[in-house]
Amino acid sequence: MNSYLVQVAVPVPLFELFDYLLPNDFAIPTAGCRVRVPFGSRELIGVVLQTSRFETKGTINDAVLLESGEAHHLKSILEVIDTTPIIPEEILNLLLWAASYYHYPIGEVLSAALPALLRQGRTLDLLTCYWRTTAIANIAELSRSPKQRKSFEILGLHDERGAPESVLLLMGVERSALTQLEKRGFVESFMQPSHFQAHPVTLAHMPLTPNAEQLHAITQIHKAIGKFQGILLNGLTGSGKTEVYLQAMQPVLEAGQQVLVLVPEIGLTPQTISRFKTRFHAEIVMLHSNMTDVARLRAWQAAQTGTASIVIGTRSAVFTPMPRLGMIVIDEEHDLSYKQQDTFRYHARDVALKRGSDAKCPVILGSATPSLECLHLAEEKKLLHLKLTERAGEADFARIHLIDLRGKKRESGVSLELFNAIETRLKADEQVLIFLNRRGFAPVLLCDACGWQADCPRCDAHLTVHYTPKQHLHCHHCGYQSRLPTECPSCKSVNLVPTGTGTARLEEALAARFPNQPLIRVDRDTTSRVGSWEKIYQRANQAGAAILLGTQMLAKGHHFPHVTLVAIIDVDGGFLSVDFRAPERMAQLIMQVAGRAGRGSKAGQVLIQTRYPENPLLITLIRHGYQAFAAEMLAERRAALLPPYRHATLLRAESASTAKTEAFLNAAITAFQEQMEERGIAKNALEIWGPIPAPMEKRAGVFRGHVLIQTRDRRLLHQLIETWWPALWHTPERRGVRASLDIDPMELS
Ligand code: ADP
Ligand code: ZN
Ligand code: ZN
Repeated sequence: MNSYLVQVAVPVPLFELFDYLLPNDFAIPTAGCRVRVPFGSRELIGVVLQTSRFETKGTINDAVLLESGEAHHLKSILEVIDTTPIIPEEILNLLLWAASYYHYPIGEVLSAALPALLRQGRTLDLLTCYWRTTAIANIAELSRSPKQRKSFEILGLHDERGAPESVLLLMGVERSALTQLEKRGFVESFMQPSHFQAHPVTLAHMPLTPNAEQLHAITQIHKAIGKFQGILLNGLTGSGKTEVYLQAMQPVLEAGQQVLVLVPEIGLTPQTISRFKTRFHAEIVMLHSNMTDVARLRAWQAAQTGTASIVIGTRSAVFTPMPRLGMIVIDEEHDLSYKQQDTFRYHARDVALKRGSDAKCPVILGSATPSLECLHLAEEKKLLHLKLTERAGEADFARIHLIDLRGKKRESGVSLELFNAIETRLKADEQVLIFLNRRGFAPVLLCDACGWQADCPRCDAHLTVHYTPKQHLHCHHCGYQSRLPTECPSCKSVNLVPTGTGTARLEEALAARFPNQPLIRVDRDTTSRVGSWEKIYQRANQAGAAILLGTQMLAKGHHFPHVTLVAIIDVDGGFLSVDFRAPERMAQLIMQVAGRAGRGSKAGQVLIQTRYPENPLLITLIRHGYQAFAAEMLAERRAALLPPYRHATLLRAESASTAKTEAFLNAAITAFQEQMEERGIAKNALEIWGPIPAPMEKRAGVFRGHVLIQTRDRRLLHQLIETWWPALWHTPERRGVRASLDIDPMELS
């Protein structure tokens, strides 16, 4: 007699796969189908990896009687949710690769790649939403709503079989109009199997005439269509990269293929999307975290069935099934948001390169400030390096100057020189953008009498002083809050002084200095209300003097056409940090912020305040630009045997005590060394650093430590991790310790 054994990846933090028995009357699920299974006392939804048939003498309850007479106890599958795979083979293979490369439990990897509703077991019947008019519809009643009227008229062109929603949207119907018409009973929607047709994509708008560099880049990319090629498109903000993407993807779309565009979390702005929408008559869907589950599933399905020609999404969109994928574009390739910083710590850029190589299509990595990883790959000729060095629009690139803060008086962090520069711009009716990566009023509360500082009881960090919405102290690392003390707990002095400058204090100082100028602050504290971003854009898009002030949020993706002066209040932290990547980050930030200036027709100026104007890296950056800076950093990294010249893995651990954390990390090191010995690997083939306390050892009440492993030999590293890491899961020292492994870590915090 035949029975079926189904191997299932279950979303639990375990590396094993689990075998289940398929009840006789169930449909046979293939790899990529979801099943509901019993797991401990719970029921979970897992993904089938393999189904195999085997000979048995029969089954009794949960036991299989093997030919040998042995009974084999197995639990049975409760439900087969999909009869055709919901995860197509190429995505399943990509996810299996990612699980093994990042050494993360496959069940959780698969689950993370699915839209929430599918993860929860919602059936996907590959039905498409159709619309048609109803019998009671009365066009005369629609005279007061032009949008509804227009949508209704377009729908009226179709008979009672209706039209697929995606086609209607392409014809200019708005979804909101359909919903309103549906409420009035004039139209109705229904689901039916979609007969997939590739919509031929046509141009909606003529491309700009490319300049010589753009033309060269476009030609090179076109040559790569139909095969795998990683391409680094390296061009300053405003050099016309987006225009290159648009023209590069045009033949791919016209040939009926799909394009995947990845953007950083914060870069998913209406501005970027509208450029794609105005260029092509194509169904474009978006995938990002700020969507309802239903909208996300709908977009995912449009990609998966092939009806969407362009998929624009953030990090996790890299796993979206697209049957006719012809090109991948990653905008702002260097952006940290592409690396997931918890649980399944994958890097979407690296996954995209693997995906492109599987799908045999070009992968374009665009950036004004490429990551050292990509510059290194370009150096090794693994990426084709295309450069755009001229500004595509009218204005020239901004000039950068340093303001030496040594021995200078400052008010709320701002030097007289900077105040004067701001004043000049405002008088000329121009806009100023001021960047300070520290929100709140002041980063420290200091006792003037004894030097006591208000620290977070749960972290190795100072508490930030906030005055709004009410006076309080706030830890930006763990969220701890307390009242502002009225006297020093150590010496009872009442002279408690908020020290240092946060955005709120800077705003106050600027408002006092320039009382009649519009001043807009953008940080997490001001943008928590929905719609405040919109207000900022609206104001920034109007001409006329204004001060825009904010944190990192200001630096990314948004265009401020009337800004002619960008001021950076403090860069020193970035060049003094213990993290070897900090200078690279700071340089990227400076260039990104600088890119906001002079986007219109006026050239911009960037002023950077520093106490270390002789810092050689900073000087290289401002005199010779990012390329020269990056070349120097790469030389340093090569000499110091650091990534990208080494492959790194970071083991993080945290527990209620330093001793416990350290004991686990020591056990981990011993186990790793044993692995090396067993395999006869020379001690110097890998460098093991640790246990070392994390840069902020205590955070949110736990004690954190690291072990960093580096090597030149990536294969060897992965072979060792493969046995070492799952075994470490079960060591007694792990009890009470939270541990995680970060392959190719981007942050050492
Ligand atoms: P990036 O993506 O590198 O920041 P964009 O593609 O956004 O650059 O281009 C910057 C500005 O220059 C945009 O306003 C764009 O419309 C314009 N632009 C780009 N390429 C050209 C071109 N070939 N001719 C004229 N204007 C261009
Ligand atoms: Zn005191
Ligand atoms: Zn804290």
